Amino acid sequence: MKAMVLHTLGNLASHPDPLTLSDWRDPTPGEGEILVRVSACGVCHTELDEIEGRLPPPHLPVVLGHQAVGRVEAAGPGTSAFKTGDRVGVAWIYSACGHCRFCLSGRENLCPEFKATGRDAHGGYAQYLTVLEGFAYPIPSRFSDTAAAPLLCAGAIGYRSLALTGLQDGQNLGLTGFGASAHLVLQLARHRYPHSKVFVFSRSPEEQAFALELGAAWAGATESESPEKLAGCIDTTPAWKPVVEALRNLEPGGRLVINAIRKEVADQDSLLQLDYPHHLWQEKEIKSVANVTRNDVMAFLQLADEMRLTPEVQEFPLADANQALMELKSRKIRGAKVLRID
Ligand SMILES: [Zn+2]
Ligand SMILES: [Zn+2]
Repeated sequence: MKAMVLHTLGNLASHPDPLTLSDWRDPTPGEGEILVRVSACGVCHTELDEIEGRLPPPHLPVVLGHQAVGRVEAAGPGTSAFKTGDRVGVAWIYSACGHCRFCLSGRENLCPEFKATGRDAHGGYAQYLTVLEGFAYPIPSRFSDTAAAPLLCAGAIGYRSLALTGLQDGQNLGLTGFGASAHLVLQLARHRYPHSKVFVFSRSPEEQAFALELGAAWAGATESESPEKLAGCIDTTPAWKPVVEALRNLEPGGRLVINAIRKEVADQDSLLQLDYPHHLWQEKEIKSVANVTRNDVMAFLQLADEMRLTPEVQEFPLADANQALMELKSRKIRGAKVLRID
């Protein structure tokens, strides 16, 4: 099969073509697994963290990609959930142990044995992948393959992030950064919390304009003072300055949720601006979001269907994955980038 394969890690600035289009061995489904013929795979900022070594895959070479949509090509021994031709999605959670205290309490995202698609196992930047059938999800018919792809990480982890803010209808929500996840979370927040206002902070005028198109009450620069204080805020940037700015904009008791698997070090000294009375006192909280559970993915897919969520998608052929990643790195973004795979 054809796959875009990562052989060596490096910074994209000096290493602009990290993935190589390769003839890769066809995977075969093992016990409990299905073989999926992939037709679309979302491009996520986490791939940059993998390529640049902030989140190095344990084995190289590896096929990246954890927002895969495709059709069941074959079912391995001991499977019963799907039949050939069924459309399924595969998300960031590739597997978890199923018996630790985290798995047993609905927090399989925190399982010490958590394995990630496209990092610990080969992912969706390829014509085929295999996955345990319990970690594949039917896709609502409303969504095309490419529209469904970003729902599997940008959307599902955005859904988890929004839940972790503890927001209630009528309370103000902030979003710092306005990429693939935030553009879905904005729509989700407007549906779930119709009386809440959403304030968007981004250094990109294009992202600010896009946020207003999608119904943000206000959009401005990262260092702007929020016109109204925020009860909850979700940060999806790779940087530290937005964290400090967001804390300043929280109301007493407000909570900042950081939806980033890794932060870059370039502006880490921004944290020295942290001023306890302005940024943290008054019971302000910071919480990170880690990974995603199967329940998050399933609940979000159902909600996205009910609310007729509209992902904004920019498509690339599989062979142009490096270009998509480079545009993500340089923040040339409107909605989600998705690879189309023939
Ligand atoms: Zn992702
Ligand atoms: Zn576990």
